[in-house]
Amino acid sequence: MKPRTMKRLLIIFSSVCGLLLVGCQYNQSQRTSPDAVDLQTDGLFEKLVAVRRDIHQHPELAGEESRTSATISAHLREMGLEVQTGQFGHSVIGILRGGHPGKTVAWRADLDALPGEFRDPALFRSQNPGVHHACGHDIHIAIALGIAEVLAKQRQFLHGTVVFVFQSEEETFKGAKGLIDRGVFSSLIPDEIYGVHVTALPVGQIVVKPNEMFAYQRRVSIRLKNALSKADIVQLTKNVNSELFRSRAGAKPWEIQNIADPVIGVTSPNTAFQDYLIMDATFDTRTENDELVLEFYLYETNASKLEGIISSIERVIDASGHKRKLISVSYVQKNLTVFNDASLTRFALRTLERSNRVGTVKPAFGQAPFFNDDFAYFQQKIPGVYFFLGGSNAEKGLIAMNHAPDFQVDEESIRVGVRSFSSLIIARLGIADHAERD
Ligand SMILES: [Zn+2]
Repeated sequence: MKPRTMKRLLIIFSSVCGLLLVGCQYNQSQRTSPDAVDLQTDGLFEKLVAVRRDIHQHPELAGEESRTSATISAHLREMGLEVQTGQFGHSVIGILRGGHPGKTVAWRADLDALPGEFRDPALFRSQNPGVHHACGHDIHIAIALGIAEVLAKQRQFLHGTVVFVFQSEEETFKGAKGLIDRGVFSSLIPDEIYGVHVTALPVGQIVVKPNEMFAYQRRVSIRLKNALSKADIVQLTKNVNSELFRSRAGAKPWEIQNIADPVIGVTSPNTAFQDYLIMDATFDTRTENDELVLEFYLYETNASKLEGIISSIERVIDASGHKRKLISVSYVQKNLTVFNDASLTRFALRTLERSNRVGTVKPAFGQAPFFNDDFAYFQQKIPGVYFFLGGSNAEKGLIAMNHAPDFQVDEESIRVGVRSFSSLIIARLGIADHAERD
């Protein structure tokens, strides 16, 4: 998940989901029921927490995830999965073939940690100076390994194949594209792909919506003949901002800590994270070949408005008296945006609502600003769904704002993730009532 800047953010939840653990009996005839998945998940939970803490203590930056990759490969082989490496960076592909023919579903987790000079607040703190799992990808790895193991226990009953994509280099936006460019799915093409990001929602919550999960991020570059004073630049910034800015009255979608707020957060139909355009408050300024270059990021929820923004900015520059100084206005960075397949999202919401034994599944009504995920590259090729998973628990003092120095995750989110998404994949694949015959 790539944020703009996450410092100075603190989240206080007005409420936190209580966790309700439902005990259940497991028997052969119930092997694929939510009860069975819950029980299998609970049996793995301590092991998954240990894996997560080991990875958390040994974080590796994008492109350097060799230890993480080796750890994952060893666990997958132990479960009996086919393991492929070497397609791109330190990515690992685990293939679980069910006992019966069927479709192919992919589950993606990302591996990399972040640079940062701060003290890790976790007891099992990073042993790699200046590197931290401050975006929660260690949690994603534990969840994916948990799903793989739950499904591996039922493989002979499963229809189809599950491909686990442990992708390197998400933070640099290189890994997903790299895997696709190297033909990771050329011989085994998934019909669907799923992925999750733990974030600043109460633990127990899974949040998803069809179409965009994030606002469209664009970097705008304005080039002028180098003849603007500092005061002119400040005034021009204000003029562009007041022309472009759009938001519901009183809403503050740039305050991303509000994303979890039950009244104005993404799970409220009256969310502040709907229909807005926000932008950096100041422009980055530099001189290049005697030209003045002004650059800033903007976040727009409505794709159809993106094209008109450039000419709006040109008009503001004209009206500000700089028409003859203007050289060009353009987008210099246009990242893809995570875009959920509508019918798969509806299926996921229905299935998770039925099978989720802890916490709640909530539809999102708005799009998160600032964040994004290169999972979008997979969705360009394969219909898929990307979920937000709650990782915060104010009662435990765990405040999960990704990339912030005080970022921490409630490990119960691993249990919620494994239970919920194992059930979802089983529902997508279908299950036989008998094992494969030899
Ligand atoms: Zn992330």
